[in-house]
Amino acid sequence: MTETDATRPSLDRVVVVGASLAGLRAAETLRQHDHVGSVVVVGDEVHRPYDRPPLSKKLLSGEWEPDRIHLRQPEVFDELDVEWRLGSAATGLDLDARTVALADGTSIPFDGAIIATGATPRRLPDQERFGHIHELRSLDDALALRREITPGGRRVVVVGAGFIGLEAAATAKALGNDVVVLEGAPAPLIRGLGTEMGEAIAELHRAHGVDVRCDVRIDALAPDGVRLVGGELVAADVVVVGIGVAPATRWLDGSGLEVRDGIVCDANLQAIASSGALVPGVFAAGDVARWPNGLFDEEMRVEHWTNAAEQGAQAANNLVHLAAGEALEPYAALPFFWSDQFEHRIQFLGRSAVDDEVRIVAGSVADAKFLALYGRRGRLHGALGVNAPRWVMSTRKLFLERASWDEAVAATSGLDA
Ligand code: FAD
Ligand code: NAP
Repeated sequence: MTETDATRPSLDRVVVVGASLAGLRAAETLRQHDHVGSVVVVGDEVHRPYDRPPLSKKLLSGEWEPDRIHLRQPEVFDELDVEWRLGSAATGLDLDARTVALADGTSIPFDGAIIATGATPRRLPDQERFGHIHELRSLDDALALRREITPGGRRVVVVGAGFIGLEAAATAKALGNDVVVLEGAPAPLIRGLGTEMGEAIAELHRAHGVDVRCDVRIDALAPDGVRLVGGELVAADVVVVGIGVAPATRWLDGSGLEVRDGIVCDANLQAIASSGALVPGVFAAGDVARWPNGLFDEEMRVEHWTNAAEQGAQAANNLVHLAAGEALEPYAALPFFWSDQFEHRIQFLGRSAVDDEVRIVAGSVADAKFLALYGRRGRLHGALGVNAPRWVMSTRKLFLERASWDEAVAATSGLDA
């Protein structure tokens, strides 16, 4: 085998590990290439790929039933010509034998692999001990929580004012429950939006009667609520824990892949081994992937929908390019997310850091409609819109032009005039 052959996998069999958004997009993209042989998708959940955003919104509120959140209609799944291995977790990756081991004792040989195992919720100590404590990641989690909060009139305590916490709080409050949110940081969503804007989002919740309490320290979960350091018991019938996630990489322990808060990849989403070498034909995508994003000159891992969808497709395309000896395309993308909380649509383009300069350039917090820009080292880094989709989208070209902070402020100031 020549050196080139060694780095160019054939594609007789490709395995995709993780049967959710990134995995589905990868499988669909592989199927668009005639010379890809069989495609096997492994997923530990029993469900075919479904959409997670409604789990904290319309599915949780009872407005939608599970049949509304399939990522594809059943007949589209059937026609995709993919072998689904659902309800079976991958337990190991052997890069020498080029096999993925499954919990049922079987193993799947592969020529190319795409890893899209997403992320799993962090837990508080003793979380599993109490039946009234919920996390929210899967359809089954959402249905279990929904049963508790849809009658309304319950005392719901949400631990963590991140995306899960705030979306679940808004849905639970709208269903007529009493809702308290407990956050350890000085404001909600600090890592996503920074302190000042996080505080603005807290006010939107307070205006709806949610008791948002920041800077609190949790001592322990209790049968009747959540005990804070200092002794106060915040009484609860239902507790929702949303304290962040960790990339689902434990099954890769000992595989030889470089794992550092995610699977470490190059700019083309190809996995890197602990030796520092690229792993031929193994790519990662979605919440689990860490890669250097050329648009921001920064290594990042993104935990949002659009990134998972786009990376799934791009990882698959790059695997096919690699096998064909063609140039790979770096994934240099502008991160985006949205979040619906009460009647408010929050949207964010780019990245934020706690010490970014933040300036509201259009609208106002008081009107619950505004655009705020985030700047770092003289450059535009992020744009947050609350109920301002057109204003947010108008900043897209500024990111792609790598606008300076001053250029971005000048271009957006007075958008509301
Ligand atoms: P995941 O969706 O996490 O899927 C990974 C899959 O792999 C899972 O099915 C998992 O069970 C499986 N898996 C894990 N380990 C193994 C293994 N060893 N073997 C086999 N299978 C395995 N983003 C937004 O931008 N806007 C929103 O409004 C929004 N709302 C959200 C609401 C909720 C409740 C949640 C949980 C997320 C939300 N997100 C939102 C984030 C978005 O859904 C995720 O970024 C996206 O689902 C990531 O897709 P993924 O395919 O990378 O990973
Ligand atoms: P998250 O957005 O990372 O927020 C977790 C929050 O909990 C943070 O504010 C964190 O503060 C806080 N926290 C951590 N430990 C705590 C503790 N012991 N006590 C009190 N607060 C604590 O994660 P998440 O809300 O759990 O969401 C999980 C995943 O789902 C994320 O990947 C998220 O992106 C995704 N999701 C996205 C959306 C969306 O995009 N609209 C919606 C729902 C879910 P620190 O930062 O200080 O640790």
